[in-house]
Amino acid sequence: MGDVLLLNPPPQGCYQFRDILFGDTPPVDVVEFPVNLASVASSLLASGCSISVLDANALQTPFDDVLTQVEQQDPDVIVIPASSTSIEPVLTDARAIREVAPDTRQVLMGLIGPSLHRRALDVVDAISIDDHEEMISDLLSRPWDPARVDGLIWSDRGRTVINPDRPHTDLDALPFPARHLFPLDLYIHYLVKQDVHYTNMVTSRGCVHRCTFCSRSFSKRREWRGRSPANVADEFQEVSERLGIREFRVIDEDFLHDRDRVLGIAREMRERDLDVNWVITARADGIDKEIAEALASAGCFRIDIGVESANPDILRSTGKGVDLDTVSSAFSTVHEAGIAAGALLIVGLPGETWESVAQSVSFAREVGSDFTIFRSILPYPDTPLHTQAVRKGWLDENGHLSRPEFTADDVKQATTWAYRTFYLDPAFMARRAARVRGGRDARHLLRSFGKFLKFYKGLG
Ligand code: SF4
Repeated sequence: MGDVLLLNPPPQGCYQFRDILFGDTPPVDVVEFPVNLASVASSLLASGCSISVLDANALQTPFDDVLTQVEQQDPDVIVIPASSTSIEPVLTDARAIREVAPDTRQVLMGLIGPSLHRRALDVVDAISIDDHEEMISDLLSRPWDPARVDGLIWSDRGRTVINPDRPHTDLDALPFPARHLFPLDLYIHYLVKQDVHYTNMVTSRGCVHRCTFCSRSFSKRREWRGRSPANVADEFQEVSERLGIREFRVIDEDFLHDRDRVLGIAREMRERDLDVNWVITARADGIDKEIAEALASAGCFRIDIGVESANPDILRSTGKGVDLDTVSSAFSTVHEAGIAAGALLIVGLPGETWESVAQSVSFAREVGSDFTIFRSILPYPDTPLHTQAVRKGWLDENGHLSRPEFTADDVKQATTWAYRTFYLDPAFMARRAARVRGGRDARHLLRSFGKFLKFYKGLG
């Protein structure tokens, strides 16, 4: 194929993680580094494709300007990241692109549930669900012929075709993401540090668990696969030394899945004396003293733990397979190792009441969560939760979970209440202030607190 444009759509046209968390006016700063797009960019370059990158999200390029650029550039193919949660705005963008560039092929890359394939293929030409690097390189490094690209989902005269699976990619064989093609000084994330630039990184793929609410649960290729410790340490080293970025967010679905690998990564990083700081998200049952101490010794300064709900019945019903004692003990272990620990909670799961939301807030306080996210439940299409919600008639006109006992409006109000109650607690503020380390940390804390106060005062 000729010219390929890798496009990250602008904020107004695409799903924003923060919007799901905080509503329309988030109290925090997030400009996500699109690491998957950068990884595809790297593989396309390696296979000889001519590519350009437009991260309109980071650059805040108005969508009209994106269209003008597409019209002028007239690429042969545009690759756009998408997921089940972002599909509607992405398809709106894709339709508009089709208007100005009718001959340009469009490929979506991301975890898009089976029920949405047809809808997407009415607008775009092909979908890559996982291991995008090899699949998209295979598709675009030769004349367009989707029928011969294993793993690809495409449309043959109105019929959805799912090509035979392709073997999993050898993750160690992939070139590191082509970060240099992206505006690196624009990426910022509240989970890392708000006043320094950061990058996302992926060290493993897949998750063998099947939580009812999780968009990963419908993926039919859930096997976990990890990069080797040396390969992971190589990327930390290269990015910090060549690009000067020292703050990393590891966005694996299950980073701690393979204990020996985690200990190996920590060992490699210690031996190389890498001056980097990084955060992970983890299941509580992957954490023990040895793991926490190894992570601390390798620069991991924060672990966000998927708690989901502090009501035992609700937690059990998610299929997470972790109990509250395990979660509690994980928080103590992480704190004892000198790492900050955050609680990730969901508001509005089946069975939720105002009392159970209060339980979650109390639990986050009791375990000393340093940063808590309360996410309003959103049933993603094709998940067990979505299936249950459809069967029970719990979906409102916006696709939100709305049970007679706890409506979508209750979910929204309870999420706001939970944030306000957790963060505006004098004991939390005193505990957090006691942990301040240096001027940068203090500035970060003051700014975050100011934003939260402004935001939640506005909500009355
Ligand atoms: S919530 Fe986490 S553990 Fe559960 S299925 Fe999703 S990625 Fe796996």
